Amino acid sequence: MNNTSEYQICTRCVMDTSDQEIFFDRKGICNHCHEYDFRIKRYVPDKENAKSALNSILDKIKKDQSNKKYDCILGLSGGVDSSFLAVKLKEFGLRPLAVHLDNGWNTEISTKNVENVIKKLNIDIFTHVLDWNEFKDLQMSFLKASTPDIEIPTDHAITAVLLKTAERLKIPYILTGGNVKTECHLPRTWSSGHHDWNYIRSVNRIFGKTDLKNFPHFTFFGLLKKRFSQNWINLLNYIDYSPKTAKKVLPEYGWQNYDGKHYESVFTRFYQGYILPQKFGYDKRRCHLSSLVCSSEITRDIALEELKKSGYPEELLREDKQIFLKKFEITENEFAQLMNLPIKSIIDYNSQEKLFRMFGLNKFWQLIRKIV
Ligand SMILES: [Zn+2]
Repeated sequence: MNNTSEYQICTRCVMDTSDQEIFFDRKGICNHCHEYDFRIKRYVPDKENAKSALNSILDKIKKDQSNKKYDCILGLSGGVDSSFLAVKLKEFGLRPLAVHLDNGWNTEISTKNVENVIKKLNIDIFTHVLDWNEFKDLQMSFLKASTPDIEIPTDHAITAVLLKTAERLKIPYILTGGNVKTECHLPRTWSSGHHDWNYIRSVNRIFGKTDLKNFPHFTFFGLLKKRFSQNWINLLNYIDYSPKTAKKVLPEYGWQNYDGKHYESVFTRFYQGYILPQKFGYDKRRCHLSSLVCSSEITRDIALEELKKSGYPEELLREDKQIFLKKFEITENEFAQLMNLPIKSIIDYNSQEKLFRMFGLNKFWQLIRKIV
């Protein structure tokens, strides 16, 4: 735990003391880099074993699903990771069903990217469109709850839709673009509660104007049960994945590049580019850039240079803000009031995290989360 007010930045990546829980070893290397090394060792097979590990997964999926219409579910956001995974799945001879969540905030480019990739690869798609009134009310509730977890409802819904579609269609394999190499450096206090339905429901009950009747969700134990009957595989860990290479390949499939990790959504862009730095005081680009430094995709100097740039052109920020205000039907003043609310965290609300902390089981809870 970083208890000093002195500024420090990791000597290996670009994570710094804007993460209040960061700690460094004697060489000045942060805990996220150690976690990265642990996960690479644990989840990413080395070059000698990667091919046979990949082949045995592919053989098992093909064998188990030989009489079925689809081999696997593919979680497709339209971002670089999942779009590249779609290309690889076809290359491996799999027959995926793409599953996409539309939360009402997709950018025009990302919508086109999804359409083009599935058309070019001849992949069937199931799109779940969230009930906009419910979802808008839930996002507004999180803004009023004043925690940095405003993206949690979307992440929760994506997982729920993947699990439920897999269960409904009896497809036991779920493949996503998640991978260690590009998304490992994420401080716990910057984003918590992805699997925590208690937390989401509690925020909805306190601040919401509508019940969550249609919102896709799962309880923690429901998730545990499903994870034992379904196989969630982050296949990009088994290939020598590089986003740089992926961005060179994908335009062949009508995929268009855009700046920023997870910028396929206007909401995410505004949240990461404006709300987080202005209100909560941190820049989420640090996480992504740090993972890219550790995986040798970019150098630390390039990451530091990148952080000096604003990353959010003035004109785009103005446009996004107007879209944000219009979609939430709030005024500039009302938005300013939301931004000025005192900062809270997940433990200020009924949540699994709070429950486990109350009983002094924080370490046990973190272990369970890691297993899941
Ligand atoms: Zn580090």
